[in-house]
Amino acid sequence: LPRLPIFEAIANHDRQSTAVVHSASGRRFTYGELLGDVAEAKDRLLREAGGSSIDGHRIAFLVENSYDYVVTLLSILGTHSIALPLSPAFPANELQYIMDQSQASMLLSSKKFEGKAQEVLKYGLEASPRHINLEKKLGSGEQREVVLEGPTSGAGGMMLYTSGTTNRPKGVLLPESAMTAQSISLIKAWEFRSTDYFLHVLPLHHIHGTINAIMAPLFTGSAIEFLFPFNATAVWNRFAAPFTPWGKGRERISVFTVVPTVYNRLLATHHDLPPETQAAARQAISPENLRLNISGSAALPTPTKKAWADLSGGNVLLERYGMTEAGMALSCGLTNADRVDGSVGWPLPSVEVRLVDTETGEIIHPGEELDANGRERDGEIQLRGPTIFKEYWRNIKATNAEHTEGTDGRGRWFKTGDIAVRRDVPSAGHSTQEWARGPMYFIRGRKSADIIKSGGEKVSALEVERELLSLPEIVEAAVLAVPSGKWGQKVGAVVILRPGAEGKGGKPWGPMDMRRALRDRLANYKIPQVMTVVDEIPKNAMGKINKKQLVKEVFADQSS
Ligand code: ATP
Ligand code: MG
Repeated sequence: LPRLPIFEAIANHDRQSTAVVHSASGRRFTYGELLGDVAEAKDRLLREAGGSSIDGHRIAFLVENSYDYVVTLLSILGTHSIALPLSPAFPANELQYIMDQSQASMLLSSKKFEGKAQEVLKYGLEASPRHINLEKKLGSGEQREVVLEGPTSGAGGMMLYTSGTTNRPKGVLLPESAMTAQSISLIKAWEFRSTDYFLHVLPLHHIHGTINAIMAPLFTGSAIEFLFPFNATAVWNRFAAPFTPWGKGRERISVFTVVPTVYNRLLATHHDLPPETQAAARQAISPENLRLNISGSAALPTPTKKAWADLSGGNVLLERYGMTEAGMALSCGLTNADRVDGSVGWPLPSVEVRLVDTETGEIIHPGEELDANGRERDGEIQLRGPTIFKEYWRNIKATNAEHTEGTDGRGRWFKTGDIAVRRDVPSAGHSTQEWARGPMYFIRGRKSADIIKSGGEKVSALEVERELLSLPEIVEAAVLAVPSGKWGQKVGAVVILRPGAEGKGGKPWGPMDMRRALRDRLANYKIPQVMTVVDEIPKNAMGKINKKQLVKEVFADQSS
């Protein structure tokens, strides 16, 4: 009987090779230990269930970024139930919402989050989940020959909640088959291998931290080092540590995948390090050492990309685009020429992508990227294939609303709500990788929040943000649609200024200076008509901005 593909893969790795490292303590765990611990933890879960089947049950867990997290995740998959990782950073009432919405039947917690789990349970949850305290590791770590038997019932997988940027977070059900397909797609595209070493600083209740930086590396037998909680100085010190391979010390980090704000934090703190640390860290992130530096989950500002390349001696960030419902969908390529500024590249292997014109509803076929006036056509990104989620949990309405009808007998398409254009980039698409070919995708933003319709023209908030961020006076920027009687919507900007930013005549930098600076960079209708300076731009747990809310807070009285 076939085993789960992830268990098949792990069972075939060198048992002595490193699977997980704890950065702070330097403690390491081998694939052999992992296999043993997962088998034991799986048995314990089944015992706790009292012999009744937990196929398809949601098993929630609160475990810190650690070896125990990996054991817990895999053991839940092994029982054919659905792993539901919770963020310990969420307040108890948010977790209660997720517990109730998912109707989780168990809540596992590590010792560290015992208190948090109790707090959540005090709410008297609808499904009355069993609480299991993983007082010690779920398994015992002893080395023995283990069999993780099959077959897969098809009921297992993972449930992740969306970031809640546009609405209340939705529970996304990812069958185990989708998790596997997503991992395999990334491994093909990014050429992960057993010699890769990941530095992992991401939260573990999102697709980026779980699939890209845990499942995919486990499939290839790579090592994952958890550095948590994220701290820019600790990350720099880790990069700067001398390389001592062969399991005796700090291996060279070969893959680093994070969000743009992490790169910004690192760039902002680098110059505070002692000079020797700076030099060693720069060496460690150089293209010869850090094979892959990846950015995604939000648009990568071009200045961030440039500053990182300058600092690292030419390591160009690889940008990719993805979401909870589909894992990664589009990605730039492995050569610098295939990492075009502002582009998220091409459809990843096994991901079917199409663009649907937001005006006419027509599919934008290859060669039809321009309209009759020679303008690029905005299209919604729609996705299909084995990597896509099954459904929004207990939300048939949203599931149906965000899919098209399947008309060609090959299934329906998922409507991402993100808008992009496709463009020929003659200098790109010449690598040996077959998937990285043809016109490239450029994200214009979310249909609901980033496409501003002003006086009959369409403006991409992301494009304007990119230009604002390239001005030396601006640290952060959010571009929004401000309701306007005259224009329908006008382009509004909320910005954080660099301390002491001066405008013309030594006055504080203001809207006039902004307009002057953007005059040669953007068409007139794209230049923000209103601008507000703030000290902070509110963001959700994933660092994303709820623009509908922000526009209400900042521009409530400017809708003329
Ligand atoms: P919700 O669906 O609850 O409103 P969310 O869409 O922010 O929240 P996620 O699934 O975490 O939840 O985020 C996916 C979204 O992030 C994508 O749909 C897209 O809008 C944005 N995104 C991801 N990668 C990129 C990128 N490289 N450039 C621009 N936007 C990106
Ligand atoms: Mg979304």
